[in-house]
Amino acid sequence: MTTATLSGICPECETDLTVPPIVRGETLSCPECMLTLRVEDVRDGSLTLQMVEVQLRDWGQ
Ligand SMILES: [Zn+2]
Repeated sequence: MTTATLSGICPECETDLTVPPIVRGETLSCPECMLTLRVEDVRDGSLTLQMVEVQLRDWGQ
């Protein structure tokens, strides 16, 4: 059984996050606390996430 998504837990608010496949070093935003998280490790479909100090930047979404 394979999954097309990866899962992780926000280190700040402990929300379960399900995201499209991303690689180590990429960043994402927690939808709950809006914190920017960086992928520290990916293994077996699980992400290890770490908070990133937010810098003022326009992500252009
Ligand atoms: Zn969060």
